[in-house]
Amino acid sequence: MPDDREIISAALEKARELGADLAGAVAAAGLVDCPSAIADGHRGSQADRGTYIVLGLHHDPERPELDLWEAGRGTPGDRILAGVGKALARWLEEEHGVRSRLIPYRLQEGGIYLKDAACMADLGRIGRNNLVIVPRHGPRVRFRAVWTDLECPGRALPERESPCEGCEAPCARACPMGSFRTGRYSRERCLARLDVDKATGREPIDHCRACELSCPGRE
Ligand code: SF4
Ligand code: SF4
Repeated sequence: MPDDREIISAALEKARELGADLAGAVAAAGLVDCPSAIADGHRGSQADRGTYIVLGLHHDPERPELDLWEAGRGTPGDRILAGVGKALARWLEEEHGVRSRLIPYRLQEGGIYLKDAACMADLGRIGRNNLVIVPRHGPRVRFRAVWTDLECPGRALPERESPCEGCEAPCARACPMGSFRTGRYSRERCLARLDVDKATGREPIDHCRACELSCPGRE
């Protein structure tokens, strides 16, 4: 009978087979007070046991439709990820008898800080544009997560230099809102752009991706 580590390893492989471009695992307990949770003063994970399988889907600029947002439906890319997550949770339950579920996207509804989770699962590193820079895909990846009742083996993340080392930061120059004017990302400025897009009432919304699409995406 496989142990938790072996099931997690098989689940990562299964996630890729189901359509995720990348998958990694992180202990739920580590997300409770992850860096974004501390910065926001929120609990970063409702669960403090088990493991999150973090799923990533490449959002190719050649397929902008993946990222078009509609009220009540989200984006096609997120629906693909949710489908992979549900199938993976079902597989974990049926194949290994382990309680598992796709968790909501939004933190307020029981989600987690997905970018923190992706970094803690060693899928990438946060770049100056406040996005996870992933090998090969740069910041053009969206994430979802599945919680599963397995113990994640602890491991130290390897030391790596910043993915932005030596880059002249086209991301900062590309932002129409000056969200990087102070040298640090301003969520308020970025969200103001989001509000303007929503206020037009037109759907689906083609949200700004300037800081993402301008990034050479090194890691
Ligand atoms: S454009 Fe350069 S500085 Fe900005 S996030 Fe990408 S690698 Fe980092
Ligand atoms: S998404 Fe657009 S508005 Fe927001 S930080 Fe990136 S470039 Fe600026």
